[in-house]
Amino acid sequence: MKEVSKSRWDLILFIFYSQVFYSHKKISYFCSMNEFPSKLLEEAVNEFSRLPGIGKRTALRLVLHLLKQDKEEVNSFGNAIMRLRNEINFCKTCNNVCDEHECSICSSGSRDRATICVVESIRDVMAIEKTHQFNGLYHVLGGIISPVDGIGPGDLTIDSLEKRIAAGNVREVIMALSTTMEGDTTNFYIFKRLSEYNVRVSVLARGVAIGDELEYADEITLGRSIVNRTLFESVVSR
Ligand SMILES: [Zn+2]
Repeated sequence: MKEVSKSRWDLILFIFYSQVFYSHKKISYFCSMNEFPSKLLEEAVNEFSRLPGIGKRTALRLVLHLLKQDKEEVNSFGNAIMRLRNEINFCKTCNNVCDEHECSICSSGSRDRATICVVESIRDVMAIEKTHQFNGLYHVLGGIISPVDGIGPGDLTIDSLEKRIAAGNVREVIMALSTTMEGDTTNFYIFKRLSEYNVRVSVLARGVAIGDELEYADEITLGRSIVNRTLFESVVSR
C-alpha cells in the first residue's frame, strides 16, 4: 500500500517538475528572443513590443496572428495605422483629435459655447461624452503639471486656454482633472492664471462613489462628500 502511495507521489512530483522545467524553458525562449527564423518577423515583434503594455511574448502572439490572416486584412490594418499617423488632425480650438481642422464638438451649433470643460487627455473627452450629461466645449491640456516627470505649465496647452477665455463669451471653466496632487496643482495653477478674467472656475464634485458603502470610504472623500452635499430633490430630479 505504502509502495503504491509512494509511486503516486513520484508521478505527481515528476509532472510538477516537468511543468516547471517546461515553463522555464518557454519563458527563457521568449525572453531571449534570439532565435527568430526570420528577420522580418523579429522586426515586427520589436515594433509591436514598443507599444504600451505589450511585452515580447504578446508581440509575438499578435504578429503570428497577423501572419494567419488574409493579405487584404493585414494591408487594411497597416493602412489604418499609416493614415492615423499621417492624416489625423488636432482641433485648432480644443486640441481634441479630428479629421478636419476643427473637431465635431467645437464646430457643432448645438453646444453651449459659454462652458469649457478642461481635461487631461482625449480619452477624458470620450469618457465625459459617453455620459451625455455635458453639452459644453472642451479643452484638452495634453497632460497635467508634474515636476517629478518634468512636465511644467509650458508643456501643456494652458496658453491657448487662456486665449479662449480672454476672447470673452466663456462664463464657466470646469476643471475635470485627476484627483491627485498633480491634478490639484494644475487646478490651482489654472485657477490663478484665470483669476483676472470674469469667469467662474469649478471642479468636478468629489464624493462617495455610487454603490460604495460609507464605512469603506476614506476620510478625505467622506469629509468632502459631507461638505459638498447636494439637495435630495436635485438628486431625484435627475
Ligand atoms: Zn475642438
